[in-house]
Amino acid sequence: MAELARDRGIVLRTQDHAETDRIAVLLTPRGRLDLLAKGARRLEGRSGALLDPLHVVDVIHYRRRGLHLLKEASLVQTFPNVRGDLERATAALRALAWAADLVPVGAPDERPYLLTLECLGALEGGLSPLLFTAAYTLRTLAVAGHGPHLAGCVRCGEAKDLTWDPERGGFLCARCGGSGTPVSPRLARTLVALARLPLRALARLRAPEEDLRQALALLDEFRRAQVGR
Ligand SMILES: [Zn+2]
Repeated sequence: MAELARDRGIVLRTQDHAETDRIAVLLTPRGRLDLLAKGARRLEGRSGALLDPLHVVDVIHYRRRGLHLLKEASLVQTFPNVRGDLERATAALRALAWAADLVPVGAPDERPYLLTLECLGALEGGLSPLLFTAAYTLRTLAVAGHGPHLAGCVRCGEAKDLTWDPERGGFLCARCGGSGTPVSPRLARTLVALARLPLRALARLRAPEEDLRQALALLDEFRRAQVGR
């Protein structure tokens, strides 16, 4: 009998495999874990059926020919307020699917796991989907080592006349040749708040929605430039 391993993880994404199997991508404190659940689609109610995105599960698994096979799963946590609200669920599923691409397989680092749990908990507790998406994108990039430099111009540290320069890693001021999207001081402060404020305080952030949408557009641009997705 193969050696059994136990992990707790957040299901980020699932995909069908072969006739009746399902592969679930989990985010665990030991990094990303891709689990093959044999017969998961045929036998509803069995362990494999618990592997839905947004579920936190405890799993028992073993290795066979380079694959991690699910033996048993039990449900630890669901996020009913997120799952029950289309806008929240859409934001969460999109964020999780993206995290699945960003977090490397088998790289033990509990920070992405803890960050994801914390952000989902805040979304469940009432954080707006827009704030969730912006803060989660920014903070996940940061723990993955791709976060933008937000303390003034990347070249000279100047805090005035900033533009957004994803290739150079953050703000570039006009004097240093910045020619990207101009970033107002208010928008720059919003980005800093999205990166650093405790989530509880972030939920009370009075940033205009227009600023948040713009921050998200800048972050999308940054993400594509830095990690290609
Ligand atoms: Zn500069």
